Amino acid sequence: MLDELLVPKGRKVRLDTLPTDAMLGLADKVDGQAQLAKLRAEISELQFTLNAEGKRGMLVVIQAMDAGGKDGTIRQLGPALNPAGVRIAPFKVPAGREAQQDYLWRIHAQCPAKGEVVIFNRSHYEDVVVVRVKNIIPEERWRKRFKHIVNFEQQLIDEGTEVVKIFLHISKEVQRIRQQERIDVQKKNWKFRLGDLDDRAHWDDFQLAYGDAISKTSTANAPWYIIPSDRKWVRDVAVATILRHHLLRIDPHYPTNGDITPGLTVV
Ligand code: ADP
Repeated sequence: MLDELLVPKGRKVRLDTLPTDAMLGLADKVDGQAQLAKLRAEISELQFTLNAEGKRGMLVVIQAMDAGGKDGTIRQLGPALNPAGVRIAPFKVPAGREAQQDYLWRIHAQCPAKGEVVIFNRSHYEDVVVVRVKNIIPEERWRKRFKHIVNFEQQLIDEGTEVVKIFLHISKEVQRIRQQERIDVQKKNWKFRLGDLDDRAHWDDFQLAYGDAISKTSTANAPWYIIPSDRKWVRDVAVATILRHHLLRIDPHYPTNGDITPGLTVV
């Protein structure tokens, strides 16, 4: 499954050519839920060990179009992750000091400590996507950022952080359905902003900007994965598969404790 989702370094990505509704070899939702239960158990053990080891961290970047399922994806990972070792960091329009500093300042401040898994709900990729689509800064500035970002992520990796980047890929029609639901269903009203419709009007520009950003920043060490996310249960299995893979790559171990000597007995 991973090969199907991974963007190899240098590949030119055009999102409109990639499926949003693939089943990734899963038979149906029941099959998906069974896989997910197994993956969660494995992730849980691995993350607990990572936290106990306290040496390395993992950064999971999640990006998507509006209604792409970032919140739902993070929620479904909840049961697999011990809250003591995980943190969610959302990034909104930069405000106050964030807006005064360079764009990576607020990002760096939220990166994982040793032993920690941090999930970014939006990230520094807003600084090469939304700023480009909405013409917030000139091209000569955002274009240089691809290089900054690759270098920044490599620095995190060199210092012991595993970096994983996930794009939840939905169709324009699924976005329409989900946005309409946010308007029609009272319990979902809180998720709706008028600005979301404005972003939808720029659908093609966002897709191009995301494709370009992914192409320019997917590396062997900090790869991007593009997840067909029209079906939430397929998306959830795919994301859990990726997390398990990268936790296995870290290969955490419970630390040995020098205080424990042969024959030490509790009396
Ligand atoms: P979400 O959609 O993530 O649930 P919001 O509805 O509050 O949360 O949207 C956050 C908004 O902040 C998005 O429109 C996003 O594009 C914007 N944003 C995040 N980071 C930046 C940035 N660096 N520059 C400009 N806008 C940003």
